[in-house]
Amino acid sequence: MSTLTASGTATLKSVNPATGAVVGEVPVATAAEIEAVVARARAAQPAWGALGLEKRALAVAKLGPKLVSRADELGLLLTREMGKPLPEGIGEAKHCGDKLDETLQEIVEALGPEVVQDDTVISTIHHDPFGVCAAITPWNFPLAMPHWTVIPALIAGNTVVVKPSEETPLIAQAYVDLLSESLPDGVLQIVHGADEAGKALVAADVNLIVFTGSRNAGRHILGAASDGLKRVILELGGKDPLIVLDDADVTEAAKFAVRNSFRNAGQVCVSTERIYVDDSIADRFEEAVIKLTAEQKVGNGIEEGVTVGPMINTRQRDHVLAQIDDAVAHGARVIAGGEGHHDGFVMPTVLAGVTHDMDIMRTETFGPVACIARFRDVDEAVALANDTPYGLGAAVFGGCSEQANEVARRLDAGMVGINRGCGGAAGTPWVGAKQSGYGYHSGREGHRQFTQSRVVTAPK
Ligand code: NAD
Repeated sequence: MSTLTASGTATLKSVNPATGAVVGEVPVATAAEIEAVVARARAAQPAWGALGLEKRALAVAKLGPKLVSRADELGLLLTREMGKPLPEGIGEAKHCGDKLDETLQEIVEALGPEVVQDDTVISTIHHDPFGVCAAITPWNFPLAMPHWTVIPALIAGNTVVVKPSEETPLIAQAYVDLLSESLPDGVLQIVHGADEAGKALVAADVNLIVFTGSRNAGRHILGAASDGLKRVILELGGKDPLIVLDDADVTEAAKFAVRNSFRNAGQVCVSTERIYVDDSIADRFEEAVIKLTAEQKVGNGIEEGVTVGPMINTRQRDHVLAQIDDAVAHGARVIAGGEGHHDGFVMPTVLAGVTHDMDIMRTETFGPVACIARFRDVDEAVALANDTPYGLGAAVFGGCSEQANEVARRLDAGMVGINRGCGGAAGTPWVGAKQSGYGYHSGREGHRQFTQSRVVTAPK
């Protein structure tokens, strides 16, 4: 929510989505202020770039213990600002802190110079900074998302300007303040505001734009970045399918379906948004899903035992409820939840009998809804799962690893989990296929996307 103070400065109020209470406010940066911030980042970059990989990593490493020791306080702020259950808010801060040393080592290894030679010449591939990086982030993992983009950008030798979501400015500010304590002035800065601030940052004198957010905003940024051919990494939305094969462990598949449909109130880019279950086991699967859905506790994330918090805002709530209504109007059956929605909360809802033509099977929902469709033929399930412009994550549950693996390889997604979620082992990229991504982060190749490759060659 943006307002003007008496002095004419615009401020952004951060509102607790569970209660409507104002959590705090930040000043909104004007386009001129954003240009000045970027100019400071530009001035700070040569010295930061010249420091070298190891020294940059040492400076950034100081963040890890701080995130861990202050996880309770950061988690509480995070939950008050965006609503997720407190243990998950605390876990987000702690996880980023705990994993930092491992991440830094992986980035340093990925970005060191590499020697390649043939019969006549010897070449060195250097991974140099681009210059100034704009990191534009969403609200659903409001600490982890800045973390996963800012860290590789900084270690690569770029200076960074973060523009966090207007829904979660305070936790992003707290993160940037903590990390900045061990960095030279101008190396990491933050600007606040909604999409206007994001657009001004994209238009400013930046070299690399790393964006995580919706497909629409990503498309706009890609167009805007063409002026100057700025480098772009886009991590966008998804419509992840889950395919449950006839020999799957039904209990495990149902557990995953419920957890991954309702986690963070369904506001996860790799939430399960579409479920295709083999007709022969569908009754048992639906029963298990109904039972597990009844165990969900909806409420303010700071209350003990809550598993599903509020929608981030009323726009998002209205979108989810409209999709449920539309599906029901077109023949879907509510088999769990579906009533008692109130204020900013959507009750976890399970829809059966959904069909591919319904909006809820086509447009990203980003809410606590599990949509179950049945199939008789695996080829048909794969075809439906792939019939989407999105391609972020996917999952297959099945008892025969050969068949599950074969189905997984046919799914047109960047990350596919077999009998589990789609996140890969440490060192693998976080990558979207089709319109879910354009460039990616993490893993050796992901880290290198924050750098300009330069090849220096001499005779042998
Ligand atoms: P959003 O696109 O509305 O906003 C994301 C950020 O971009 C915000 O900081 C916003 O202010 C800014 N922004 C919006 N329009 C812009 C423009 N034209 N130019 C520059 N900046 C602009 O997304 P959101 O609602 O904050 O987040 C939810 C979306 O993010 C979902 O689609 C979700 O799937 C996606 N997401 C993807 C990943 C991933 O890893 N692929 C991770 C988390 C979230």
